[in-house]
Amino acid sequence: MVHYDAAAIRQRLEADRQRLEDDIYQRTQGDEAVIPSDPISDSGGTRGHSAEEADAMADAERSNLVLGNSRTLLEQVRAALQRLDDGTYGFCQRCGKPIEARRLEALPYAVYDLECQEIVERETTP
Ligand SMILES: [Zn+2]
Repeated sequence: MVHYDAAAIRQRLEADRQRLEDDIYQRTQGDEAVIPSDPISDSGGTRGHSAEEADAMADAERSNLVLGNSRTLLEQVRAALQRLDDGTYGFCQRCGKPIEARRLEALPYAVYDLECQEIVERETTP
């Protein structure tokens, strides 16, 4: 007997996993398509691309940031699915108390209850 709707949570986590995998796949595919041409071979003296290149670089950096976030999130989603499988899902990994169903609904891959989340954040924030 658990305090959450395991079937609904699993469905959500699997949908999230699928979405994140697609997202990461598309971003990594995109990276290959936009590899900039070697600037040295392009020595015809055409300047004025620098702003454009800077934009492209900024886009790439933003994309990498999002990609990193997606990967981190995907790890959390996969770990949550693993916990659903082994029966530890929905319990705080710090104090072992059940995580509130409302919190799980809002954050299906939560590993701590609200109380411990705050403590952990305080400990990890300088
Ligand atoms: Zn706790």
